Amino acid sequence: METQLLPADGNSLSLASSLLRSGCLVAFPTETVYGLGADATNEQAVLSIFRAKGRPADNPLIVHIHSRSQLRDICTVPDQAVPLMDAFWPGPLTILFNKLPSIPDAVTAGLPTVAVRMPSHPVAASLLRECGLPVAAPSANSSGRPSPTRAEDVLEDMNGKIPLILDGGPCDVGVESTVLDLGHGAPVILRPGGVTRKMLESVLGQEVSLAGSILRPLKPDEKALSPGMRYKHYAPRASVTLVDGEESAVLARLQELYRQETAQGRKTCVLCFSEHVEQLQSCSPHDIGSSAHPEEVAHRLFSSLRGLDREGMEVVFSEVLPPEEMGLAVMNRLGRAAAFRIIHA
Ligand code: AMP
Ligand code: MG
Repeated sequence: METQLLPADGNSLSLASSLLRSGCLVAFPTETVYGLGADATNEQAVLSIFRAKGRPADNPLIVHIHSRSQLRDICTVPDQAVPLMDAFWPGPLTILFNKLPSIPDAVTAGLPTVAVRMPSHPVAASLLRECGLPVAAPSANSSGRPSPTRAEDVLEDMNGKIPLILDGGPCDVGVESTVLDLGHGAPVILRPGGVTRKMLESVLGQEVSLAGSILRPLKPDEKALSPGMRYKHYAPRASVTLVDGEESAVLARLQELYRQETAQGRKTCVLCFSEHVEQLQSCSPHDIGSSAHPEEVAHRLFSSLRGLDREGMEVVFSEVLPPEEMGLAVMNRLGRAAAFRIIHA
């Protein structure tokens, strides 16, 4: 199959919409990352998402809508969700609802709940409006690889597998949406993202807890509240290790680790904050943004990780952010890219 990469304009949006309506896959930009979309009510179309990504069938998808009126056909909506939708939709918040039969089990991996969000990106919103369908869309990467934040990243993974990629430029947020479960009495963040814990708490007026496996691997007997948490994810081909601790100790340790690895002949680099690029000049520093601006680090993270593969890096050491607010979303992705290997300097 030939894959077209087209700038998102009126013509390509019409083409994308008719492809979706006929059961084909289309990759499109959202404010978080690029999504790989299919008609969420068409089981065969949904199954082809799993094939294109090599995604395990037990990892459910997020359904994207452009209007709350679409919820009627998809799910039931508890009162508690209304102020959240008022505050954060359209935007990077995914909420779990009890699903209705119009959504095939393939979308939810057989779970009784369906994850729904309303993206704010103008291209995503126009596409959803034009096709009129709820669109199931996971991130448009091959399963396990870093999520795509640019159309070229999607092409790297999906060339020959899907008919169309809409190019809307780089994604703003850069990490995936926050996934929130309201169903167990107290609200729980299953995946941290662009809408932070404090933002949710300020609207709900109650404490929001974090799923246990956000900053550590699942224990062998632990049930994943969010099935995606079971899998290795966001990982470049290089072996990634995080280094945390007091600033000067971290910088010294990064230099020492870099020297050790390069002495063994391994192609090595350091992911560091803008503030430290100069001090780490001898360690092939890759600037991931300022530690004072976790949003900037989130915005750059996945393209930095993908860049490591293009450079053929074998060993990577990275600085860490405090795991709070957007820093939590960054550390969840970075932690999983590193399979939670951490050195305390
Ligand atoms: P992605 O599409 O790559 O952004 O991944 C979607 C994420 O949403 C995965 O981590 C899923 O585990 C999670 N998810 C989707 N639907 C559900 C659901 N019904 N219950 C719990 N987690 C879900
Ligand atoms: Mg994904």
